[in-house]
Parts: sequence; C-alpha cells; structure tokens
Amino acid sequence: MDFAAFAERADGIEAEEADLGTVGLVADALADADADLPVVARFLQGRLFPGWDTRKLAVGPSLCYEAIARAAGTNVTADDVEDRLAETGEIGAVAASYEFGGQTGLAAFGGGDDARGSSAEEGGDDADRSGDGRGGSPSGTDLTVREVDESFERVAAAEGVGSEDVRRDTLFGMFNRASPAEAKYLARLVLGEMRIGVGGGTVRDAIAETFLDANVTRPVEEREEDDGTAELVAAVESALQVTNDYGRVAELARSEGLAGLHDVSLEVGRPVRAMLARAGTVTDALAEWDRAAVETKYDGARVQIHHDGDSTAVYSRNMEDVTDALPELVEHAEEHLDAPAIVDGEAVAVGEDGEPLPFQEILRRFRRKYDVDRLREEVSVELRAFDCLHADGTDLLDAPLTERHERLSEVLDAGVSELLVSAAPDEIESHEADALTAGHEGIMLKNPDSTYSPGKRGKHWLKRKPDVETLDLVVTGAEWGEGRRAELLGTFLLSARNGEAYETIGKVATGITDEQLVELTDLLEPHVVDESGTDVDLRPEVVFEVGYEEIQASPTYSSGYALRFPRFVAVREDKEPPAADSLERVERLADEQ
Ligand code: AMP
Repeated sequence: MDFAAFAERADGIEAEEADLGTVGLVADALADADADLPVVARFLQGRLFPGWDTRKLAVGPSLCYEAIARAAGTNVTADDVEDRLAETGEIGAVAASYEFGGQTGLAAFGGGDDARGSSAEEGGDDADRSGDGRGGSPSGTDLTVREVDESFERVAAAEGVGSEDVRRDTLFGMFNRASPAEAKYLARLVLGEMRIGVGGGTVRDAIAETFLDANVTRPVEEREEDDGTAELVAAVESALQVTNDYGRVAELARSEGLAGLHDVSLEVGRPVRAMLARAGTVTDALAEWDRAAVETKYDGARVQIHHDGDSTAVYSRNMEDVTDALPELVEHAEEHLDAPAIVDGEAVAVGEDGEPLPFQEILRRFRRKYDVDRLREEVSVELRAFDCLHADGTDLLDAPLTERHERLSEVLDAGVSELLVSAAPDEIESHEADALTAGHEGIMLKNPDSTYSPGKRGKHWLKRKPDVETLDLVVTGAEWGEGRRAELLGTFLLSARNGEAYETIGKVATGITDEQLVELTDLLEPHVVDESGTDVDLRPEVVFEVGYEEIQASPTYSSGYALRFPRFVAVREDKEPPAADSLERVERLADEQ
C-alpha cells in the first residue's frame, strides 16, 4: 500500500465521528491493505510494533523536530518547528505545513537509503514540486507503508555511537520524501500521537467485520436471531489476548478464518500482557463469588518468566526483557521448573534473613545493566510465582485460577505463592494479618473460577483496599487468650466516645504480633476492673488506632455500629480517652461510605 493511500484513509477515519462508521472505514482499509495488512492494522492505532515486541523508536520530540526542519529547508530550524507547534498544538498539522522534498544535497549528506529516495530524484527541483504549492499531490510520492515500516525498524535498531545520527537521518529521509498529507501521519506515528479515534477495540471489530463470516458455520435459523457478530468479535479478542499482536491476528483471520483464530496458541518467549487488579474489599469478593482465592500481596515487581526447556527469559510488567538484570530468577526457573512454562509472579527483594525488603530495593536491581553481580550480593531477588499461563505444551489462559495454580505447583517445585480458597471472613482476615505481620503489603483476593485475561484490570482480581481512614478508639474490655496465649490478653473491645460515656463498636484481634500482645497485656492489665470467665472489663485509659474496611449498622454493639475487618494499627500513646474519636464521627464516616 502506498503511504499516500494510508494517509488518505487515516484522514477519512479522523473525519468520521460515529463509532460504527469508524469501524467500517477501518475494515475497508484492512481489506485493501494486501501484503501490508499487519502494518496497517498497527499503524492505524499508532502502534509501530506488535504488542509483545518491546522495541522502541527512542526518538524524542526534539529529534523529530530536527528531522522535520532539515527536510523543510535550510532556512527552517527545529525551533521554528516548535514555534509552529505552539501555535497549532498538533505535530501532524505542523509537519503538513511545510514543503518537503527539496533537500537533495542534504539527503545525500545524510546518507540514509531513504534520503536518496525517489522524490529527491523525481521531484528534487523545488520549482517542479511547488506546482501545486504543497510539495506534490498525495499520490505524487512513491513512499510505501512497507518502506515506512522498515525505516521505523532501522530507527529502533540503531545502537551505540552514531545511533542518534542514524535515527535523525532515517527520519529526515522519510520526511524529505513525503507529501504534506503523508508527513502529517509520519510525524504523528513517530511521536506516538496518531489520535484518529482508532483503538484496539475498533481494529478488533474491523478484523471480525472484514475477514470473518459468522454465517459459514451457523444454521440459517440461528442467523435470524442473532447475526453472530459477538461470537466473531470474541474470537478475535481471544486471539489478540493470546498473541498480543494485531497484525498477526488480522493475517490469521484473513488466511484461515475463525478456525485459525481458535487454533492460535501462546509462544514461549513472547511476553503476554499481565492481568491486573483493581481495589476491592473482602465484602466485595465474597458477595460476588461466594468464596475467594486469597494470596499474599508481595511488594515487589511483576515478572513473567518464559522457560522453553533450555533457556529462560524474564519480562517486566511492561514486557521489557529484564533477563540479564535478574540472574537469580533465571537460575531459579532452570533449577525448579521441570517443563517449558510461562509463569507469572512477583520478584521480591529479600534481606539476609529472608525477610522481604521494601519495594525500592527491587527497583535497584530491576533494570540494571551493569554491575549486576556486585549488586546481587547486596540485594538478593527471589520469585514468588502466583500464576501459570502455559505448562508443558498446554495453554492455560482459559483454565480457572485454581487449576492454573495447581499446574503451577506441579511444574515449579519452589517459590510458589500459597493459595487459600475460603468463604470464611475470619480465615481471610487472619491470612491478611499473617501477611502484614510478615512484612508484606497485604492480600490479593481473586475469583477462583476466573480465567486469565491479559492486560485486563477486571473485577476478578482485587487488591484489598488499604484502610482509607483509621479510628482512634478506647479499649474498654478484652479477652484472655487460649492455649499458649492464656496468659495474654488477645481480643480487645473497642469503644467510641459519646459525651462522657463510651459505646462499644467492635473487637480487634488482628494485626498484632506476639511481641505486641505481651506489651499490650502489660499496658492494659493494671486497668482491669472486672473479670468473668475469659472476659475482662477495662477502665477507659488506653486508645488504639484501628483500621477497618467498613462501618456497618449493627445491633451487636451499644453504639449501634460495628467495624468490618478491624485491624490494630498502633497504640495512640499521645491520646487520652477524651480525645478519642466520637460516635458522631463514626456516624459521619458511616454515612460517607
Ligand atoms: P498494584 O501495582 O497496586 O496495582 O497491584 C497489583 C500488583 O501487585 C500486580 O501487578 C503484581 O505486581 C503485584 N502482586 C503482588 N502479589 C501478587 C499476587 N499474589 N497476585 C497478583 N499480583 C500480585
């Protein structure tokens, strides 16, 4: 496809306001893209490379302005380009406002292949090109989509000494051959500002519309009820999730139809977008799924490990290749994985005693290119694997979480995060308390039946919301523990201030270490005023800061409210009970929820 034709299509799409119309125009562009289908499917979205491909242009705005300026003529500078940008606010319009193509001398000087392109040969004469006043008609250049794609590859591949020159020269070469209409989209592609209203969903729908026909596989009666579009779109979406490559999916749909899309599989060595989590509560999780898969939330950096049986690659959450920076993970995979696999997990920094170190420590290691061995001695990295996308020849994206976790434990014999499936709030709560006590960030709650949705921040993975507010509450009672904790006060009755009185609102037993239990017992025992069985009444003397998930209306406590998932944060040594939170504040917080 000529790049001029691409630019013309892009203009048409930009002018279209209706979503359906846009899909139709994108579908037409894909249908006419012939051999350039993969590139057109990406370029229309402003993507230069497939999603799994981590190459980047490494071209900042100023380099792009320089290339435009150089192609625009000796009297134009990068500052002029920037000035025009300040006026118009849009790089495509700026690029389209220049007349390119006259810089034959400089093109030769620039030395790139494109710089010696045919517009320089055919249209090098300024007088000729100014015939239409705009550097030639859109079809006047012979720049093709393939050449533009190859130039971007050359720019992305430039490395080391002189690489900036290669990038600048290659861009200059393209602009110097471009008509204004072409330059508009070249500039937008280079700077990642395509913005013609085409997102991934549009291309997905267009692929289904152009290359798939639901009616091939469906009986006539069904066609009348529903046109089958949703099924086709779902097939394209699922192939996109697996391949992370719009170009490949478009080609597959064109050449092999629905069957080809259904057969597509993950490739070890091509990173998959990570499934993401949104904030949520235990209440949300249990209301939605009846039972929740609970895991520790590790405070590290996301990694995806691809092991093909021989070699191992490690990718970051952004699918960058971080293999060289994290040799421990490669060693871990090679020692403990007994089959080819794609494993999802968290890389955590650990201290000498195996305790988790803060997140900043893993960052010191993550993108490290030099001195890896030296740094490795200071901060050691370990894997906490929590998911498995592929194991021993089988893709698992469509398998439920619990099954994926089982497969994970089968193929990886160390470093697998524990998964608790529970419907009991108490059990989940104590899992969270253990995780916090061990120095982790908290817990993740996952739908045990959910499939793996790459790149989705859906409702199937919830990161337990940290407490938004804490309350300072007075300890008015407690319970002696059991067994080895019989000598310690364990569960603490909390009250909110109500004028001179204190009204109970809940009990807290979570978030307290064994050491703290001893300290709290020493602190509270002198204030015991009455005992009955294991229950004690306390004089209101001590204030606890307490986190919680929600305040509920409840007849259980005298305040009329109860805290859901209360968690001990600290003793407010600086506060006397009259300064503790009032029932009024509790009421207000409950209303605001
Ligand atoms: P956030 O970065 O706050 O959106 O939280 C989600 C991130 O938590 C994920 O991308 C992972 O890097 C990290 N994480 C830690 N532990 C887990 C786990 N058990 N399951 C999923 N993600 C986890």
